[in-house]
Amino acid sequence: MVLEKLGDALKGTLDKITNALFVDEKLINELVKDIQRALLQSDVNVKMVFDLTKKIKERALKDEPPAGMTKKEHLIKIVYDELVIFLGGSGAKVEITKKPFIIMLVGLFGNGKTTTAGKLGKYFLKRGNKVALISLDVWRPAAYEQLFQLGKQLNITVYGNPKQKNPTEIYKEFETEFKKYDVLIFDTAGRDALSQELISELEDINKLVKPDESLLIIGADVGQTAEKQAQAFHDTCKITGVIITKMDGTAKGGGALIACAITKAPVKFIGIGEKVDDFEHFEPERFVGRLLGMGDLQSLLEKAREAISEEDAEDMSKRLLKGDFTLIDLYDQMRAMNKMGPLTKIMELIPGFSQVKLPKEALQVQEGKLKKWKFIMNSMTQSELEEPDDITSKRIDRISKGSGTSHTDVKELLKQYEQAKKMAKMMRGGNLQKMMKKMGGKLPGM
Ligand code: GDP
Ligand code: MG
Repeated sequence: MVLEKLGDALKGTLDKITNALFVDEKLINELVKDIQRALLQSDVNVKMVFDLTKKIKERALKDEPPAGMTKKEHLIKIVYDELVIFLGGSGAKVEITKKPFIIMLVGLFGNGKTTTAGKLGKYFLKRGNKVALISLDVWRPAAYEQLFQLGKQLNITVYGNPKQKNPTEIYKEFETEFKKYDVLIFDTAGRDALSQELISELEDINKLVKPDESLLIIGADVGQTAEKQAQAFHDTCKITGVIITKMDGTAKGGGALIACAITKAPVKFIGIGEKVDDFEHFEPERFVGRLLGMGDLQSLLEKAREAISEEDAEDMSKRLLKGDFTLIDLYDQMRAMNKMGPLTKIMELIPGFSQVKLPKEALQVQEGKLKKWKFIMNSMTQSELEEPDDITSKRIDRISKGSGTSHTDVKELLKQYEQAKKMAKMMRGGNLQKMMKKMGGKLPGM
């Protein structure tokens, strides 16, 4: 699916907020960079990306969270809100305001005009309207036949005349029939590029048909040039909306969608496949929710609530500072740290530690290893857990057999414990430099 990568990247960004201990300028900067990278990789225009992230940053730094909302939840809400606005806000609809309501589809070759004519026909038919499709594409030999087959499948009348080479004449031929319908959908001819010839053809049709909606059909694979296309077609026949097709494809797609969503011609529908039912009304809120892997803002906020709180983390850093922990404490801490990301975040809670750069690998334990540690600890006696220093090589053998791990695994756990204990001691003693040296990290200016 188009934008899948963007979705994944944005989900990762949200996880980062969720798992962060607190919202500070550093987190906001990181977030902004992540969003920029994600959007640029999805082919979104550079200027738009920077406008968006500037807004997110400004709000994140200035706006106070409303009552009852934490800073973290508020930050998620800001990202969500701004992405929705970025994609067109509350969403634009096609409202049937008169009868017959006239819709004209325009666009270049192969973008999906004819297919979309059928999809739109079905959409309005399902909503109780009497619909007709009219083929004004005199350029492609099989254009009428393609639309005719679609109409047959959907039980929708199709008007057209494959022998007639002048679209104006086709219109006139059936004009008296049109009064019978609630919605008329005109399929027009395209070209490979927006030529003067196409422009004057569309201008003629436009004058005659007087559409209530002129919808531009653009494939998601068109990318950033969608914006230019939208503008050019808009100048020719006042585009009132855009339909992005082929959203099911593998194209990056962000360019087309976002370029159009924020132009004067908003995205009204998206095509998500070749079949007539592969068609949806475009609603930015729902779309962003889906992009972020959640139904809506509420579920995003709930997720943030489940993550570790600032108080929990502070508690943990205090325990760490006290330094008298057992193997069980070590396990608990490692597990909690994994849940919230690198230990560096906890370090920031300790005065003087915020500028210290610690090597991440030294401080994070992989999920798989944690599981192993749990098995190992289950095979230890209470006194071994409380006094790991007393564990002899013989005991290690017993523990590794009992837990189905190796001698080395048990030793590694004990070594990790030793290191953590030493680290805590040094933290208490404030001997930062020594500790950094030990851990391979660096203090600023060292
Ligand atoms: P036109 O030249 O603009 O009338 O384009 P067509 O309607 O003939 O469509 C061109 C090709 O794109 C056809 O093979 C369609 O089946 C395909 N197509 C149209 N819309 C979609 C869509 O949303 N998804 C996919 N995958 N293919 C589409
Ligand atoms: Mg066509």
